[in-house]
Amino acid sequence: MSDIMRPIPFRDLLDWVLTEYKKNRSIFGVRKVVQRDEEKRFPIFGQTIETVYGPAAGPNTQLAQNLIAAYAGGSSWFELKTVQKMDGRELAKCVPKPCIEMRDEGYNCEWSTELTVEEALHEYIKAWFIIHIIAKEFDLGDPDGIVFNMSVGYDLDGIRQPKVNHFIDTMIDASKDEVFQDCVETSLEAVRSKKLHHVTIRDIRRIPSRISDSVTESTLHGCPPAEIEAIASYMLKTKKLNTFVKCNPTLLGYEYARRTLDGLGFDYIAFDDHHFTTDLQWKDAVPMLERLQGEADELGLSFGVKLTNTFPVDVKAHELPSEEMYMSGRALFPLTIELVRRLSEQFNGKLRISYCGGADYFNIHDLVSAGVWPVTVASTILKPGGYERLSQFYEVLSDIPGKAFTKVDVSAVTKLEKRALESGRYSKPVKPLPSMKVEDSLPLMNCFLAPCTTSCPIHQDIPAYLQAMEEGRPYDAFRIIVEKNALPFITGTLCPHTCADRCMRNHYEEGLHIREVKLQAAESAYDTYMSEPKRPAPKASGKKAAVIGAGPAGLASAFFLSRAGVETVVFEKRPEAGGIVKYAIPHFRIEDRKIEKDVKLCQRFGARIITGKEITDLEQLKRDGFTDFVLATGAWKGSAPVLKEGKSMDALDFLTAVKYGQDSLNLGKDVVVIGGGNTAMDVARAAVRQRGVRTVRLVYRRTKRYMPADEEELRMALEDGVIFEELLAPVSLKDGTLVCSVMKLGEPDESGRRRPVDTGEKKLLPADTVITAVGERIDATLYEKLSVKLDEKGRPVVDEQLQTSRPHIYAVGDGRRGPATVVKAIADAARCAQAIAGAHFDRYEEENAAGDEATLLRKKGQLTAELSQQPDPRCLGCATVCEVCTDVCPNRANIAIKVPGLKMDQILHMDGMCNECGNCAVFCPYSGRPYKDKLTLFWSKEDMDSSENQGFLVLKGTNVRLRFAGTVQEVDVAEKSDLYEPLRKFILEVIQHHSYLLAPGAGEHAEL
Ligand SMILES: Cc1cc2nc3c(=O)[nH]c(=O)nc-3n(C[C@H](O)[C@H](O)[C@H](O)COP(=O)(O)OP(=O)(O)OC[C@H]3O[C@@H](n4cnc5c(N)ncnc54)[C@H](O)[C@@H]3O)c2cc1C
Ligand code: SF4
Ligand code: SF4
Ligand code: SF4
Repeated sequence: MSDIMRPIPFRDLLDWVLTEYKKNRSIFGVRKVVQRDEEKRFPIFGQTIETVYGPAAGPNTQLAQNLIAAYAGGSSWFELKTVQKMDGRELAKCVPKPCIEMRDEGYNCEWSTELTVEEALHEYIKAWFIIHIIAKEFDLGDPDGIVFNMSVGYDLDGIRQPKVNHFIDTMIDASKDEVFQDCVETSLEAVRSKKLHHVTIRDIRRIPSRISDSVTESTLHGCPPAEIEAIASYMLKTKKLNTFVKCNPTLLGYEYARRTLDGLGFDYIAFDDHHFTTDLQWKDAVPMLERLQGEADELGLSFGVKLTNTFPVDVKAHELPSEEMYMSGRALFPLTIELVRRLSEQFNGKLRISYCGGADYFNIHDLVSAGVWPVTVASTILKPGGYERLSQFYEVLSDIPGKAFTKVDVSAVTKLEKRALESGRYSKPVKPLPSMKVEDSLPLMNCFLAPCTTSCPIHQDIPAYLQAMEEGRPYDAFRIIVEKNALPFITGTLCPHTCADRCMRNHYEEGLHIREVKLQAAESAYDTYMSEPKRPAPKASGKKAAVIGAGPAGLASAFFLSRAGVETVVFEKRPEAGGIVKYAIPHFRIEDRKIEKDVKLCQRFGARIITGKEITDLEQLKRDGFTDFVLATGAWKGSAPVLKEGKSMDALDFLTAVKYGQDSLNLGKDVVVIGGGNTAMDVARAAVRQRGVRTVRLVYRRTKRYMPADEEELRMALEDGVIFEELLAPVSLKDGTLVCSVMKLGEPDESGRRRPVDTGEKKLLPADTVITAVGERIDATLYEKLSVKLDEKGRPVVDEQLQTSRPHIYAVGDGRRGPATVVKAIADAARCAQAIAGAHFDRYEEENAAGDEATLLRKKGQLTAELSQQPDPRCLGCATVCEVCTDVCPNRANIAIKVPGLKMDQILHMDGMCNECGNCAVFCPYSGRPYKDKLTLFWSKEDMDSSENQGFLVLKGTNVRLRFAGTVQEVDVAEKSDLYEPLRKFILEVIQHHSYLLAPGAGEHAEL
């Protein structure tokens, strides 16, 4: 059944690992397999580890394959998933699914293993064996250079019960365990039958039966100090285990945690003080830790703390289907590092700390060099790149010499804590990240797509031009850009770049600098492009187009129409072309030089622009032979009045006056701008720059977080000194005072934004001038004159091709949509040019999926601190190779398979390995869930019947039981049939060349 994980027998695991490595040089999908430095060793607990990091107790250490995948990524320290008396289905029933949400800071609502304690034990033993074997067989390192650290909870009574007690004792000595013995026998057989080439019988015999001699004690929130101490003492004295006590971040105190998270922008994370008052207190913790350290010293064992557990918070925005969830990742780092600092200071650096709490590529070097190790991670390896992110830890830690723990460097930790608060890396942006999903549902096959391109209104061929730039071909990049984009300089400067918001790199460090690369290509290649001899444009017979308005929509229409061979003339009532961009958007955002270049580009294929000519009807133009008319007149009519009393200035009047009008507008000292969109930001920033102005306040009904303006615009306004007056609704202006109603945020409205609710209070603001920027409107005069049908908002009604109710009259841009963006204006222009001229602008689309697979795979899991490189080389080529669902699955339950004859790899979902944690659904760029929507391989009829996924069960040979398109049927996939051919090929490929995936436990596999 879909959420039940079926442990894979040792023999099958071994076959899988050996076959996959032989075939692909990967281990459970991890391609960056780390070969450890033979010399480097970090002594710990009387053993040595080769690296100081690994997966934390959690989703990445539940199944044997998870531990093996983590080993492949260079891990040597494995904190095994917690076991406790409640286990298996009883526990799984209490874990609501999905249970992981790692979009930014992480959340989960799962805690200990969903396997039975015995199954967990056997998973750990199997992993122990396989790691020992592959270390030697694949020459990855010293088989003994790893530590398995148990995690056990939650109360002494439960720990002493036979189930958990047996687990601990067997981990200490597994020699009598039947699975251990099976591992020995099966491995010996593999040596004898030459499945293993470098591992000897002696190697197998010396795999230690002592799987673990250390434990991390895990307790539930509210566990009394005496109980915590009793458990630790029991582990030390009775079980003779090196012991870490896991501490909660609540040890910091409520005020500190609240203040810190608020200060870093995580103010929406909801929690009260109840855990802080019932969890272990500092005054109890310090003497307890001193006593336990003393006990350990006497016994010759190691003792320390694990900092920290996850942080319990309330579910507020349906993040997960539970009431409480546990926060991790980058919001936890500043809290955990402060606790590290406090305890290190208290113990003069002598207390050993096992670190976990937002550790990642960016901070692991600082942690380890400060003596804080081992370091375990979960959140970072649940994000795209997955276990492959671990290999980067290996690289970044390469300069740290192997040595035993002596003490924590308190001053280094203090610096690290300070940097965490100041660096911005651990701060939440002012505005929430928009949903990164595209609207399309997830297809069963052929799913790779570039979310940047899909979300761009003109579907710019972004991966294609990024690749051209990366390869030093700016001219090619520019050609790719202008295929679909008539205004590369304007969009390269001020496009709101939804592409970057949706970019997969947001899950690594930040979205690709796509817009900047576009501008760079334009700056580099424009002159060459413009000086090239023009290809004669194909003639679209009998067509002559008049475009009314030379703003972005009109200019772009002219570009596409003339390029398609339509004789085109643009009529513009103002003295120059460029529309809002030319007349309203301030010079500090875009220089005239760039606008002029785009205007010339739009004339390159012969379109003429006649300025100073207002069009009031089309009769004369018709008489002049024009056959088609594109209305691109924009939205220049001021907004409806906002104030009940008093006069305000309109945003566009103000901006045009600033740009080309009076040298000094007399605004007075105090200016108030009403609005929260990008126009309001421009107005406020322009007002700040006016002579005599002392304060510019921006009044908005909600908070900054809900403002429609882009994060970047908000930030620039803040940097310019604009004062944000949130939660105020302006009412009236009288005698230089703006009266505002004070609002508070109520329940979310249909848009998901929290509704502003009047508190009844008033606030007075000094205001010599008030400027309203709440959205311009469309002036319908021309439409009415032409008898064009309008909707209730005064916008022209258009069909799919943007034709109005009058044949051959089209409407595009802001004049059709209301205030929008330049790139949307270009999208309209392309659509209507396509309708008029029958042209298509898609020559380069295939190049989006033509990246070099090996190069792109190398970029997976590689985070980068250097963001200013030009051209930005971070593109992952998502349309060539996505595979994100395979990266992020802790259980390796999604597998990418190459199918002969199909261009992209196909994703196979493994029912028996999935526990429906939901992580792949979080990161798949579609509005879909890979664990529900991708072709699923079942291992039994029972599992297939209890799932609704489309998928198959192999019956015999190439006969399968297949659920597809609503029916279940038996099919022989060896023969062509009515079955969708790519699907048939996919299933056949799995059966013939990936038989190790088919049915664990079913016996020998042909491929070895
Ligand atoms: C302050 C401000 C900042 C903005 N910032 C951004 C930004 O950063 N990024 C972004 O993408 N978008 C931004 N926008 C939106 C963007 O400028 C518009 O979406 C875009 O200009 C719309 O293009 P358009 O051609 O439809 O309209 P317009 O740019 O308004 O052009 C219409 C043209 O038609 C002419 N015209 C009107 N009637 C007639 C007539 N009867 N005869 C002849 N000519 C006529 C007008 O003079 C004008 O030149 C901003 C808008 C504003 C107001
Ligand atoms: S990584 Fe590249 S292909 Fe993927 S979304 Fe970002 S820009 Fe597009
Ligand atoms: S396939 Fe998806 S839901 Fe299933 S375990 Fe993997 S990440 Fe979780
Ligand atoms: S995440 Fe997986 S299912 Fe989603 S598009 Fe990428 S490869 Fe396909």
